[in-house]
Amino acid sequence: MMWVFIFLTAFCALAQGCPKIISRSSWGGVPSKCQAKLPRSVKYVIIHHTAGASCNSESACKAQARNIQNFHMKSNGWCDTGYNFLIGEDGQVYEGRGWETVGAHAKNYNFNSIGISFMGTFTNRAPNTAAQKAAKDLISCGVAKKGINSDYTLKGHRDVSATECPGTNLYNLIKNWPNFKA
Ligand SMILES: [Zn+2]
Repeated sequence: MMWVFIFLTAFCALAQGCPKIISRSSWGGVPSKCQAKLPRSVKYVIIHHTAGASCNSESACKAQARNIQNFHMKSNGWCDTGYNFLIGEDGQVYEGRGWETVGAHAKNYNFNSIGISFMGTFTNRAPNTAAQKAAKDLISCGVAKKGINSDYTLKGHRDVSATECPGTNLYNLIKNWPNFKA
């Protein structure tokens, strides 16, 4: 009986838990210079692709996370990488600005959204299932941690700006995810 209880407790903890998030220090990010705090329970989740190289291993995805941050800070002059989180096709989540800092990913939505970007170009193919699962688990985690409102709306970047992002194949995929509204 006790074992059944322990098993169920562990199972529920996993179901409501968060995926492993590769921290900024772990992928070699430089410190953020951002000041603006994101409110709790944001209304929107905005999906992006980086429109750059994809990655299939932790080392390659860490390198991509560094490249993107470098580009956003040095070339764009931003206070940090633009996204709140990045997703790799190694099936892992890479921390960007995180749950509590305003991103720079979707004009007019940054102050009320979490921006999640799949590393790669998803115009002609969708991200692999491991990456899809990582993103879905991250959204569930955000709702559980109150970073995302339980009544959130999911959108693709192209729904809020004149952009091709997040790529047609990825966009067609997220149309079938919970809470999607164009
Ligand atoms: Zn985008």
